[in-house]
Amino acid sequence: MSPADRALRPGPKSRELFAEAQKIIPGGVNSPVRAFGSVGCAPFFVDRAEGCRLWDVDGNEYIDYIGSWGPMILGHNHPKVKAAVAAALEKGTSFGAATAGEVELAREIQGFYPSLEMVRLVSSGTEATMSAIRLARGATKRAGIIKCDGCYHGHVDSLLVAAGSGAATLGIAGSAGVPDSVISETHVVPFNDAAAVKALLEERGSEIACMIVEPVAGNMGTVAPRDGYLEELRAITKQHGVLLIFDEVMCGFRVARGGAQERYGVTPDLTTLGKIVGGGLPVGAYGGRRDLMEQVAPIGPVYQAGTLSGNPLAVAAGLATLRELKSEAEAGRNPWARLEKSGAMLEAGLREAATRAGIDFQINRVGSMITFFFTKTPVFDFTTAKTCDTEKFGTWFRGLMQAGVAWPPSQFEAAFVGLEHGESERNRTVDSARAALG
Ligand code: PMP
Repeated sequence: MSPADRALRPGPKSRELFAEAQKIIPGGVNSPVRAFGSVGCAPFFVDRAEGCRLWDVDGNEYIDYIGSWGPMILGHNHPKVKAAVAAALEKGTSFGAATAGEVELAREIQGFYPSLEMVRLVSSGTEATMSAIRLARGATKRAGIIKCDGCYHGHVDSLLVAAGSGAATLGIAGSAGVPDSVISETHVVPFNDAAAVKALLEERGSEIACMIVEPVAGNMGTVAPRDGYLEELRAITKQHGVLLIFDEVMCGFRVARGGAQERYGVTPDLTTLGKIVGGGLPVGAYGGRRDLMEQVAPIGPVYQAGTLSGNPLAVAAGLATLRELKSEAEAGRNPWARLEKSGAMLEAGLREAATRAGIDFQINRVGSMITFFFTKTPVFDFTTAKTCDTEKFGTWFRGLMQAGVAWPPSQFEAAFVGLEHGESERNRTVDSARAALG
């Protein structure tokens, strides 16, 4: 690549589009992290994607580790997903009435997640968490909720407190427009600190409806639960009649076939899902214990609805994705074992490159979720994540981008390895990472 080419990422068309976009869309983007604000460069605008690759509007190619922030476990534009959506399209795009596909998708989800005795489909991860919180409050007749510092559960008013992801990237603790009265019932504890939950519940347990947690955190960068953490949460919440919600929107169907609850052997009362469950189209889901889910309208008093919930195109993409994962496993090509191996090899390559470069770093990885942190402090919660040198991350990110590797544009996000990332992509990524470390 010539030096002139290197200067072209993002290229002139992306830059021009970004300038246009900023005139009409706040910040030029429809979700904050896409603006690349914390990595010191303009964003590229995507034209198309295939497998583990993206092409921007200037024709530059990238190996993609954003993966639409999680859904692209099979790779972009997977032929079976494409065919399923095309077939659904022939029949119509939305009916606002029940379809067979919704029943099939609910059953399919239950096959992966046995704890979901009943399932409700929604259209995003945010809707899933918002609805699960409302259900928990309705079922327990309590108002309080517990969340972890640095965990992100979508832009739900009551959950936009000490939130990770884009909020962490922008360095904002909450959001304007969320009244104090709404967040006064939200209690924040550090991730990986069961003692803090215990102390809080001993004091105020009878006021708390639920604790929501990312069982594998992805929104402060990847952070695994410490040994015993999830088990302790399960025991303490149960003791106080507090519902435990695993937000598996990001780690669901990814860190194991049945997500974090299978990987760590801990069963929550309710689970929220998104991303992979829609195969790249807008689907979220929440579900769990039958006695709780039977509280949801129209059979119970907790209201939740959606014009586009269970949309036939989205359901078709989700079904095709889950079925492809299942059929790969049945054919002896266990996708989760492959992702684990591929993630481990990428980790090993990055570790070697960073060690040779003599820099302070940590790499956290759970299966195919991986984060390269610019800090010498082991990262196990949001306080330790914030010890990172975000300037250095920005420099590294820009180096990777120039070399054609699209890493997530924030220190506080997970990168996603998919089934299409192979040896040549891995080698190119590690070589680029090495060069970008200087
Ligand atoms: N929960 C978690 C754990 C997430 O990572 C996200 C999004 N990154 C959400 C909820 C919100 O999902 P969505 O963006 O689809 O509303």
